[in-house]
Amino acid sequence: MAEVRVRFAPAPTGFMHVGNLHTALFNWLFARSQGGKFILRIEDTDELRFTPEAVQVIYDGLRWLGLDWDEGPDIGGPCAPYVQSERLAGYQETVQQLLDEGKAYECFCTPEELEERRELMRARGLPPRYDGRCGELDEAERQKFRDEGRASCIRFRVKQTGTTVINDLIQGEVAYENSLIADGIIQKTSGFPTYHLACVLDDEAMGITHVIRAVEHLPNTQLHLQLQEALGIQPPQYAHLPLVLGPDRTKLSKRHSAVSVVEYAEMGYLPEAMFNFLALLGWSPGDEQEVLSREEIIKRFSLEACSSSPSVFDLQKAEWLNGEYIAALAPEELAQRVLPFLVEAGLFEAEPSEKRMIWLGQVCNLMKERIKLLTTFTTWARYFFTDDYEYEDRAREKWLSREDTPDKLDMLADRLDALESWNVDSVEAAVRGLAEELEVGAGQVIHPCRAAVTGTTIGPSLFHLLEVLAQGDVVARLRRTAALGRAGQLRPRKHA
Ligand code: GLU
Repeated sequence: MAEVRVRFAPAPTGFMHVGNLHTALFNWLFARSQGGKFILRIEDTDELRFTPEAVQVIYDGLRWLGLDWDEGPDIGGPCAPYVQSERLAGYQETVQQLLDEGKAYECFCTPEELEERRELMRARGLPPRYDGRCGELDEAERQKFRDEGRASCIRFRVKQTGTTVINDLIQGEVAYENSLIADGIIQKTSGFPTYHLACVLDDEAMGITHVIRAVEHLPNTQLHLQLQEALGIQPPQYAHLPLVLGPDRTKLSKRHSAVSVVEYAEMGYLPEAMFNFLALLGWSPGDEQEVLSREEIIKRFSLEACSSSPSVFDLQKAEWLNGEYIAALAPEELAQRVLPFLVEAGLFEAEPSEKRMIWLGQVCNLMKERIKLLTTFTTWARYFFTDDYEYEDRAREKWLSREDTPDKLDMLADRLDALESWNVDSVEAAVRGLAEELEVGAGQVIHPCRAAVTGTTIGPSLFHLLEVLAQGDVVARLRRTAALGRAGQLRPRKHA
């Protein structure tokens, strides 16, 4: 088989939707699983035009997910240029060829005239579409319109009889009645090609073997196939990916969650978790396994295993997966990943020493099983980084507002202050020793201590977390909390 060549062909809207990234991922997976090429092409024929910023957004989104391209605007390649606005001459030449062969014609209808006629069709209960009027003009009539200074676009004459059959690798065989489509515009009045023409020509020029794109483009394929036939182009294979829906089964949009890739990065998703999550939208490895590495996904990926039915973007599942990936990271690696979030929150220095990074790794080791999003480090784990943390209501209610707590905390502070070595064992012995002396269960010291030192009632093993904090800080926190408790300042706020 010839080398697989696929492309991701976004418009530079300045925005990278998760739906776009999903399409990019499936193309990339197919290329990598087949040892083929993944090509990046910028489709800026909507007069959006290539701007460095808008294209950067595309690069950043792909890079964040780790999707590298083999040919593209920035790195070039044998089919350069990879930006459609730089290929205009070729499109215009083809349009001229189609005009010469009578397969396309100039259309002089104004937007107002078109709308008026559509209105009439609607009134008659017909589907509103172009009626082919300018296809009937003779040269004299066309010249008259030109002399009037009317602008013209170019329409492709579609077949009016029979059906166009698409043998889609994911959707199966889909047949469209030719009588249902109108003569499509291939060149706008501005002289720019439409998406349809540019896409068909570029797929051919770039040797694309498989067009993998969102199912919304399936109806366009009817026109694309007809264009290819008129131009004597061998069509690529088509594979239309199923829709990605929000949890309420409507098209994924801002109402459901963030839709821009950047927002997921900012929310604390790991790119490898998002990669895994997006791969499972519309593809399945065929068993129950859900946590799959990049390499495994590449190895097991196939278009045959893609589903034609819509998949649901379930944010809870994304969070769960992210938590699995966080838990599996080596603590030093996790430390690197959370650092930017901590710096942003003002909880850590931007250029920490090696020693501080090792310390951060210890914190990560304690928290990694409990965190689903990197951003949560700045909230749940805040007490590791600052004395300025909140005493939660539950901690106040259960422990900190109790009358006997301040004395216990002060006693514990004295014992911990006196320790000559600060480690899990010495801390544990001190805590348990106090409980014995007071003749209470260990929990009666452990829980108030946690509430005082972290402001919460849950978290990692107390002795391990105390070990990670500095002895002096722990002692000071215990004393401060005891004083606040005595002053009646740690009553639950909701009852205050
Ligand atoms: N520029 C089109 C889009 O972003 C590409 C569609 C295609 O892959 O053919 O939807």
